[in-house]
Amino acid sequence: MVDKQIIERSKQISIIELAYRLGIEVKGTVCRCISPSHEDKNPSMSFKIETNTFKCFSCGFHGDTIALVRQARNCEFIEAVEFILNESLNKTSASEQKAQKHPLKRNLSGSKEKGEKHSDIYEYFINKVLLFPRESHYLVADRKISIEVLKQNNVKNVADQKNRHHYLNELKKEFPEDRLISSGLFPISKKGYPYFAFFNCCAVVPFYRDDKIVYLQGITKPELRDNKTPKVFNLSRIQKEELYIPTISEQKPIHVCEGIITSLFFISKDLNSIAILSASKRLDKIVNELSLYKNSEFILCPDVDPIGLEMFERLKPELYKQGFKYNEKYFNPIDFGRKLNLKTRELYSIKDFNDLRFYM
Ligand SMILES: [Zn+2]
Repeated sequence: MVDKQIIERSKQISIIELAYRLGIEVKGTVCRCISPSHEDKNPSMSFKIETNTFKCFSCGFHGDTIALVRQARNCEFIEAVEFILNESLNKTSASEQKAQKHPLKRNLSGSKEKGEKHSDIYEYFINKVLLFPRESHYLVADRKISIEVLKQNNVKNVADQKNRHHYLNELKKEFPEDRLISSGLFPISKKGYPYFAFFNCCAVVPFYRDDKIVYLQGITKPELRDNKTPKVFNLSRIQKEELYIPTISEQKPIHVCEGIITSLFFISKDLNSIAILSASKRLDKIVNELSLYKNSEFILCPDVDPIGLEMFERLKPELYKQGFKYNEKYFNPIDFGRKLNLKTRELYSIKDFNDLRFYM
């Protein structure tokens, strides 16, 4: 059984962004029909942003985000929902077993292998690309993340559209194309060309485990952000990590929050932080990974919304069972505001950690 709320949420994810993720070549709001029922030479399928749906004007094939994923990945309803919400890569699903039989679809669905296998590619890539000030403006000026913290955690971006091919060529010189594709960095378009998956990100955040990059997360460019567009992308299309563990110091308590941006913001305010990726369900994996830091004190900082609070409520008993030291009470944005000496009037207008940035 899938939660009604979860189904609703997966229908809200921008259908065009989703089409990109699926490797469908979209030009503006049109693409070639993905239904096998007809050979589409000219783009007949059109996306409607207002309703977040698609329709093929040639064969009539139409539907919502879930229908799009089901067709493109040849999978069941539940797997489509999981894919949309980025959970599907944790386990072998029937759709991916099927996809293995289609070389193109296998490429689209990315590799199921653990991220370490492609660490060399991710590292080469991250070390080649730079941190462009104009692109990181959103993180620095709007989200109040210090440039030092971005540098310290090797956050990069790909500003220049012109340079896209340059990076691709550099990578091709170093690694065979099939490896680049199975690393998830270059999904194959419908026409059969690898394309660059980072172009709509203002930042690419590497996830390190034992000094190796195992996963890459992209932060959506602010101009592309709306209620329907995911704020972050699984750029390596590989087994998703549950935790973002930036550079932290062992001595101070660790603030466990939701999402990369909040974590980097906390660190910019000289707090230790580890982020749970939003909508994460793998509590066992989270607790397991956190046990590396079991000697530290944990301060739980969920987003103030039902999804965040519910997840942390489920996390607490797991931490308790494993003997973690954590505060019973949640650390909330008001507490944080007080720490930052905000005025009472300002404190009352804060609902979430994200709101704090307006007062800095
Ligand atoms: Zn059609």
